[in-house]
Amino acid sequence: MEATTQKNIDWTNLGFGYVKTDYRYVSNYKDGKWDNGELTTDSNIVLNESAGVLQYAQTCFEGMKAYRTVDGKVVCFRPDLNAQRMIDTCKRLEMPVLPKERFIDAVVQVVRKNLDYVPPYGSGATLYIRPYMFGTNPVMGVKPADEYQFRIFTSPVGPYFKGGAKPITLRIPDFDRAAPRGTGHVKAGLNYAMSLHAIVDAHKQGFNENMYLDSATRTKIEETGGANIIFVTKDNTIVTPKSSSILPSITRRSLMYVAEHYLNLKTEEREIYLEELKDFSECALCGTAAVLSPVGKVVDHGKEIVFPSGMEKMGNITQKLYDTLTGIQMGRIDAPDGWIKEIC
Ligand SMILES: *Cc1c(COP(=O)(O)O)cnc(C)c1O
Repeated sequence: MEATTQKNIDWTNLGFGYVKTDYRYVSNYKDGKWDNGELTTDSNIVLNESAGVLQYAQTCFEGMKAYRTVDGKVVCFRPDLNAQRMIDTCKRLEMPVLPKERFIDAVVQVVRKNLDYVPPYGSGATLYIRPYMFGTNPVMGVKPADEYQFRIFTSPVGPYFKGGAKPITLRIPDFDRAAPRGTGHVKAGLNYAMSLHAIVDAHKQGFNENMYLDSATRTKIEETGGANIIFVTKDNTIVTPKSSSILPSITRRSLMYVAEHYLNLKTEEREIYLEELKDFSECALCGTAAVLSPVGKVVDHGKEIVFPSGMEKMGNITQKLYDTLTGIQMGRIDAPDGWIKEIC
């Protein structure tokens, strides 16, 4: 694959990390309203030492990607759902809401200004888009900030798994991710802060990720620190956990639709018990970063559950889901109405 642009980045060897691009979008909220927003080249933020975000972690984010399609367009995938999810998150965190049209317009503006960083079709790389919002004015007593900043930066990223997706191993941790009436269903930075110890510990013990259980009964599967989970049953039904403390992944919701409408598979969103793990034939994590990553094994305090798809490659159904969804994103397969937002 020929992979050159003005930016002269080695697209095929990009990792999943921050690469500074030329422009970012900034809009400030003050006196009860948003300003018009603008693009800036300044990648630094200067904040008061007592800013709400620094003291009480009033911050949330979104994650999405821009893709170069087979016919040379630049598109992003279902940005309306990211906009809505950020609205839901902001309401839960007592932050101001940025209207959906403003969110989508900002995404379009910032991607258009960083077009040279959108990796070429076929490179496996994409332009990651990170919208986020945080409290900026000084707070001392515990209360929401009055002033906020919404920003979007972009960063070209390589495929999450270099050299193809090898199945990973999860463990059932002794830590919980989210409480039943807590913040697990919104994309708050604090959910990640408190998952860091559990993930560092998992890595120390030789596992790739934690498979969290519901914290009330610790009998049901929820998700990992940053990805939802799907299972395939022996008769090829796609099953995903139902819980009010799971983050509603756009990738997962899209995969369930693809399974039903493109692959003619049955789908179920229901409570899934830890005890059922041994009955599934495939398991995968899903999210924007990796799309789908196959899980080969789950270890529950020494007890190993190895899925029939094994530790060598993605299961067949997982692979079909992956090929269809990425085909839709890259323009090789017709998308359902409204899924693809053309940027240029
Ligand atoms: C962002 C996120 C996901 C994935 O959501 P997508 O919309 O598919 O990117 C899953 N779980 C958690 C906890 C997340 O924060």
